Amino acid sequence: MSAEFVAAEMPAAQSETDHVASCSSSRDSHGEFDFDGFGGGTTDRQMVFIELCAGSAVLSATAQRHGYRVLPVDCKRNRHKPRCRIVSLDLSEAHAWEVLEYIVDTCDVAAVHLAPPCGTCSKARGIPMPDGSPGPQPLRTAEHLLGVPDMTPLDRIKVNAANMLYERMGKFIEWLDSKGVAWVLENPTNSFLWELGYFSYAVQHGYFAHCHACAYGSSRPKKTSFLSNRSGIHMMQKFCGDVEPHEHAPWGISADGGFATALEAQYPDAMCEQLVKFVDELCSDKGIKISPASLQQPRAHRQPRGRATPQLIPEYELVVSLLLHNTPALDSKRCLMQPCRNVPVGSKLLRSEKKGKMVLCIFGVFHTCEKFVHVAKSLWHPFDLAAHIPDHLLRCLFEHLTKSPMDLVKLRIQRLKLWTSWARDLAKDESEYKLTLDPRVRAVLGAKRLLLMKKVAEEIGWPDTELFSELATGFRLVGNATRSNVFQQGLKAATLSEEQLMRDAKFLKPALLGKIRASGGGEHSSALYDITVAEAKEKSWLKGPYSPVEMDQRYSGRWLPVRRFPVVQKDKLRPIDDLRENRVNDTFSSTERATLYALDHLVWASIFLMRFYRSGGHVSFTLSDGTVLDGCVHPEWLAMPPDLRITAMDLKSAYKQLPLSPLDFDKSIVSLWSVKDRDVKCFECHVLPFGASASVHNFLRVSAFLQAAGCHLGIIWMSYFDDFPMLSHSLHTGSTLACARGMMSLFGFVYSEEKLLPFERSAEILGVVFDLGLSSEGRVSISNKPSRVEELNDALLGILNEKFVIPTSMPSVLGKLQYADSHVWGRAGKLALADLRELGHTSPSKVLLEESQLKAFETLRCRLCSGRPKTFLADDVEKPVLIFTDGALEYEGDAAKATIGGVSLKPDGACEVFGCAVPDDVLKRWQDGGKTHVIGLVELYACVVSLLHWKPDVSSRRVILFVDNWPALDVLVKGTSLQPEWTRWKTTSCFGSHACLQLRMLQITLAEGLSRSLSF
Ligand SMILES: [Zn+2]
Repeated sequence: MSAEFVAAEMPAAQSETDHVASCSSSRDSHGEFDFDGFGGGTTDRQMVFIELCAGSAVLSATAQRHGYRVLPVDCKRNRHKPRCRIVSLDLSEAHAWEVLEYIVDTCDVAAVHLAPPCGTCSKARGIPMPDGSPGPQPLRTAEHLLGVPDMTPLDRIKVNAANMLYERMGKFIEWLDSKGVAWVLENPTNSFLWELGYFSYAVQHGYFAHCHACAYGSSRPKKTSFLSNRSGIHMMQKFCGDVEPHEHAPWGISADGGFATALEAQYPDAMCEQLVKFVDELCSDKGIKISPASLQQPRAHRQPRGRATPQLIPEYELVVSLLLHNTPALDSKRCLMQPCRNVPVGSKLLRSEKKGKMVLCIFGVFHTCEKFVHVAKSLWHPFDLAAHIPDHLLRCLFEHLTKSPMDLVKLRIQRLKLWTSWARDLAKDESEYKLTLDPRVRAVLGAKRLLLMKKVAEEIGWPDTELFSELATGFRLVGNATRSNVFQQGLKAATLSEEQLMRDAKFLKPALLGKIRASGGGEHSSALYDITVAEAKEKSWLKGPYSPVEMDQRYSGRWLPVRRFPVVQKDKLRPIDDLRENRVNDTFSSTERATLYALDHLVWASIFLMRFYRSGGHVSFTLSDGTVLDGCVHPEWLAMPPDLRITAMDLKSAYKQLPLSPLDFDKSIVSLWSVKDRDVKCFECHVLPFGASASVHNFLRVSAFLQAAGCHLGIIWMSYFDDFPMLSHSLHTGSTLACARGMMSLFGFVYSEEKLLPFERSAEILGVVFDLGLSSEGRVSISNKPSRVEELNDALLGILNEKFVIPTSMPSVLGKLQYADSHVWGRAGKLALADLRELGHTSPSKVLLEESQLKAFETLRCRLCSGRPKTFLADDVEKPVLIFTDGALEYEGDAAKATIGGVSLKPDGACEVFGCAVPDDVLKRWQDGGKTHVIGLVELYACVVSLLHWKPDVSSRRVILFVDNWPALDVLVKGTSLQPEWTRWKTTSCFGSHACLQLRMLQITLAEGLSRSLSF
């Protein structure tokens, strides 16, 4: 990959040369680009939950845990310490509401929760204080709902601001209603808000539910109301008397001098859980399970994060609704104690609601033990199902397996010929079309055949239909990203509108120019200036130089400089433009997140080809729309060894091949110090600038299309930014290369001819050594590049000697370690890294390392330097080993007793069972510090013991592990835990020895029925 990319746009975690990435400009705080993947061809249906005036965002944090993608919005002045990342939008600005509408329009929004501040609406004002003194003055009364006539100027400002916010929210609610989107408005029951005209629409069209916060575990009986356009909100209704008797804390002034009402601003956890459950049911009414079945696919040696992955076996065999006179008797887990009509004993009451005099009860019926095991035995490991591979790549692989080598070559020629004939037919239209384009855009496009690409896109059914018209006008840097329908859902909300940005340019411009002048260039300034001038003179990427005064004339004073600074990489000087500093990136919204799975797909594709080229037989792929490709491996492949080769093509100066919209020339004026002129010089930029969030998004759209088009021509390749690593059987490497070259030239893209190496058995690809030398034996291995190993070893040794780190320099080291780690270490490395990540990366001063942290660094170093490559085996497709685990924590009096057990079931029917107690001293250690409820750790212990115990049997097999505890599962999958003791415990005691297991675990909640029947 080109170092240029890495420098500016890639997150630290994946960059090749990410020492650059530690500079402020290079990391996007929104982190919209995932570390590991590419999701070409499919979009997921993850549901979005929006919380307005989120405060500390406890509700969003809860929703996030349940698998929602969340957007907690609050303003910058928010005084609460947030529980998850708050999106800072100023709701007093029209722009904020435009962004919200864009998100609601382009995402699957499950619900919008609005919790406007209630301070000015409180009826508690005016109540005398406990000492008899008058309380704060009421700001509204029933007669003066919009504010009493007599109040201080400061209060007047507050009330007016609140009124304006309410007005916007009221309108937004109406708009949400028109879009059929669920909304919930929350405020104290005792608030004037409910009487305001702004919310009259909401009140007329909504359903109310009231509750006491103490019924949800809060310490005071604060009355809270919810208003929603969905009647299910009734489930929030719960009062003090409905729960176990409890004590209340006093009202009035609290210990720290504030009003106790302020302490009650945060929702208690149980209330959040209930609200999320309400949202869950809205989704389930629409037939969406909050573990959407579409994406988040399992990948080689990695686990999808979060709980948004479907369970392989649904928790309930069926769900039954019954209309009953009374709610039947339930045990503590809300399960039936007696059969109820046809619903068997033990079924779980999922929810109930009053229907006149009757109660509608909805039960989940668990699988019987036998049935669950029967279903489990029929499962294939998702890795073997190809469910995670985009359609265009699957079609391509299918052709590679089912056609003869000769037919494959013929097919390629035939398709490329067809496209060439289209290019000829379109030539006249193409040049006429180009003439209608802005000449500055046309100059950047060069020989690109837009109409041809568009026709090809239609031919292959490419979903990003807007791509080519945007290429023709140049890509925007600001505003709302076009939804490509290619990438996964993701959220990045612009905190600034284009208008605001350009208004602020008045202040930003002199500040940035001043900063450049003050720095007066620095070490590499003349070299940097020379490169920049060359970009203008020789390559026409830039236009200039101009003085700032000349720029003022060109743009009537309204323009924004982008500070350009040099970064030295491998003795080469790279210019980097800082579009974060000048806030352009703050004006870009997107509801997609590109994830690049190139390396995973490369591994997967090579193993699949090897497996079938060796064994032959029946091939069946299911595409995302359900189409099944069925066929047999062509016998000619079996007659020769599966000799695979690899190389990579990369686009030359990739961003510079794509035009920037002239509308945004004024926002990316490249500015730097000229030593010769002793002043700042400015250049107009006509190509996609490095460092812009929009550039990344749009470039990846282009490269995803190029990859798909290539697959259609029969090239097995992936895309990773400007890199296109490709596989070929040794029989037709010539044809593969010719085809890739032909396509790029036909479309008018320029690739690096000098970097295009011949196909080899082993190559440095995407920063690792990808070795197909043993492909005839069905092996692929990946190892870190020797240069990378050396570099990291030095860095780690340095840290170990000095025994301290400077957190601001950590992200670059962490990023490199993480990338290296993912190829060699497996989960143990992840856990050690998590420890280090806790150090944060914001402090510029030295942090001394504790013994455990030093140990983690040493562990990483040892693993890294052992140099053992990660090997993947193209074994015969075999059903996975099933492992069921369970843990129990019971009390005899005060004495806790923890037991664990496991069952292993092999495809041949062999079954093993174990059960034992958790040693008392281990249990005591977990309970240190007063923690009694350690069931999660017990469950985790069961998994770990099972894996250790059956390691000899399963280490080279696919395994599906069944766990019935979410927190334990999170630790297993993510390798991190919010509870430090979990992570630490695991790092030290067990996972170290587990790295080589390479288990592929998948999440399933073990049905309660089965769980109970495993009595150890
Ligand atoms: Zn109470």
